[in-house]
Amino acid sequence: MVRPLLDTHGRVHRDLRVSLTDKCNLRCTYCMPAEGLPWLPKDELLSTPELLTLVEAAVTAGISEVRLTGGEPLVRPDVVEIVGAIAAMEGPQGRPEVSMTTNGLGLTKTASALADAGLARVNVSLDTLSPERFHEITRRDRFDEVVAGMAAAHDAGLRPVKVNSVLQRDINDDEAVDLVRWAVEHEYELRFIEQMPLDGGHTWQRTEMITGAEILGQLRTAFDLSEVPGRGAAPAERFFIDGGPATVGVIGSVTMPFCGSCDRLRLTADGQLRNCLFAQGETDLRAPLRAGASEAEIHDLVHECLSLKLPGHGINEPGFLQPPRPMSAIGG
Ligand code: SAM
Ligand code: SF4
Repeated sequence: MVRPLLDTHGRVHRDLRVSLTDKCNLRCTYCMPAEGLPWLPKDELLSTPELLTLVEAAVTAGISEVRLTGGEPLVRPDVVEIVGAIAAMEGPQGRPEVSMTTNGLGLTKTASALADAGLARVNVSLDTLSPERFHEITRRDRFDEVVAGMAAAHDAGLRPVKVNSVLQRDINDDEAVDLVRWAVEHEYELRFIEQMPLDGGHTWQRTEMITGAEILGQLRTAFDLSEVPGRGAAPAERFFIDGGPATVGVIGSVTMPFCGSCDRLRLTADGQLRNCLFAQGETDLRAPLRAGASEAEIHDLVHECLSLKLPGHGINEPGFLQPPRPMSAIGG
């Protein structure tokens, strides 16, 4: 009998975010400095067999959704094989659903192979419809490749393609309505994410952040929004646009936290298990794995990590400290 992945606050965990690498081929200003970050040392990174052993232990412990992320997951050369191996795993509720968050670069080449390997869906990040602004935000001139990658994912059946957008003041905060219109036209589902204090450069400022309420205010000038019922553990609060069926989501991690229903754990590319994006501590799975730990011992470590999970992320509390790892090394 499998123990439910229950924490001390009554939350059952079903979702594992797996970072395949901390490296990336873009340099989004809210995520990384222009020169990149000190990358994780090679000998500390999980090999593919190690990564799959840990993901399988999580799946047999009760994880039913696995989202591959990073850094940029598509820069890992064997990403298609990794998707195939995870999609074929068996947990107590059957095979896990495998999805991916990506910046879209390279999707034109890999979307159908990923779909064939068992990938269910993708979230592609795009913050602007202007190639010039894209260059300014990501520090790379690759807008067309991202847009083509989204189309390739849609054509490969990775639907609905979800689009993640971060709005920044005086940079792209005038684009909320246009981004939604564009996404609806392409049958993509847009989700705005509030900018969080997780950037490698530690430049986040609360006063500069575009809040979920501001975004909804802008959208209501152009659309009639009605809440989609049954949010469950989903981070996005979703709204029907002009009666539906198209929807838009707002992930108000800072101003509208959804910690009470959080069902997520995170595995970093160097084998550390985290119970929250903002956790200060981590549970090392790599060293025990390399020392020959059994699956039952890994299960115990997963439960230990869960038992330490706090009720909330604490961003809005006076003593809040940004975690030592940036978003790109945690797996967003
Ligand atoms: N490279 C992939 C991508 O960009 O989609 C996956 C990793 S990225 C860290 C995952 C998501 O986190 C992206 O949608 C990105 O826009 C978002 N993100 C990165 N830094 C963020 C921050 N400081 N606040 C809010 N979202 C952030
Ligand atoms: Fe790379 Fe994603 Fe971070 Fe942008 S948000 S720098 S694409 S990891």
